[in-house]
Amino acid sequence: MAYQETMTPRERVLNALAGRPVDRAPVANPTSVATVELMDLADAPFPEACRDPELSARLGATGYTELGFDSIQPYFTIIQESSALGCEMQWEQKDNWPTVRMTSPIWKTPDDIRIPPGFLEHRDTKSVTGAIEILKREFGDEVAIIGKSMGPWTLAYHGFGVETFLLMTIDDPELTLDVLHRLKEVSVLFADAQVAAGADAICFPDHATGDLVSGEYYRRFLQELHTEMAERIDAPLILHICGRTLDRMGYIAQTGMAAFHFDSRNDPQEAMDAVGDGIRLVGNINNPETLYVRGPEEVRAEVNACLDAGVQLIAPECAIPLQTRLQNLLAIPEAVKDWTAERS
Ligand SMILES: [Zn+2]
Repeated sequence: MAYQETMTPRERVLNALAGRPVDRAPVANPTSVATVELMDLADAPFPEACRDPELSARLGATGYTELGFDSIQPYFTIIQESSALGCEMQWEQKDNWPTVRMTSPIWKTPDDIRIPPGFLEHRDTKSVTGAIEILKREFGDEVAIIGKSMGPWTLAYHGFGVETFLLMTIDDPELTLDVLHRLKEVSVLFADAQVAAGADAICFPDHATGDLVSGEYYRRFLQELHTEMAERIDAPLILHICGRTLDRMGYIAQTGMAAFHFDSRNDPQEAMDAVGDGIRLVGNINNPETLYVRGPEEVRAEVNACLDAGVQLIAPECAIPLQTRLQNLLAIPEAVKDWTAERS
């Protein structure tokens, strides 16, 4: 059976994020779909493509023009703000993710946290806002442009060091909350700038991940703060947290965020049951095994499992590995279309 597509990709994504009806489930990765192959196609390699608006836009656009996803995401890393805040960077080469050098933390106490006056003009934040402006001009209302602003928990990892910050959460919860509330202003500032540049939605990664902290931690330190973010930032927010997160999905569903980008270590049906009507889900297709090692048939099976469970937006679980083969990515929208056609 055939089915009729009646929506633009942008409409499809925004409807799904708002819990409104769609002609088919959108394919939209809130994090990166950049690969080495796509860098070659667009002539926009890492690390330059993370530091220049024109190259970021060009590489980001391939998610739509080459892969046929319904969204474009031109912020590939998790370190753009941290670079602009003064962290020491390791920019790496084309086939490797840039990282923050954890050996030299820039903050020791909450009072050390300062947003530099030129934060939004720094090349590594400008590469994102500039790319969104270019993409908005080029694609207008056709495709959803998803920005990204790191949450305070992730920024604290980068500024204090992961171990130091996690120790702080145990030793001094008050001090920890002080840190998070100061850093949330960075998240709002950068998200607002991307919305002003034309972003339709904002991915909000805050790495209180399943392997490092508990659901109770999420409730204590982040639930209220994420609720505030959903109120203050004028765009649908997509929270991203890796790992096993079933123990916090009930809390996440109450934040008012539009969607939660969830990891393959959570069963799609169990996740849907955990969040109920509170929030939409996106993600779950396994990266290191399925997309990176296996083939289109295995990818299709995972897409179908998500669709069968009622997951509203279909996507990989996180930023995909840079060496992922295109055929596995192309299988995602194909599988969604076939699943929909079979049911119409
Ligand atoms: Zn992740």
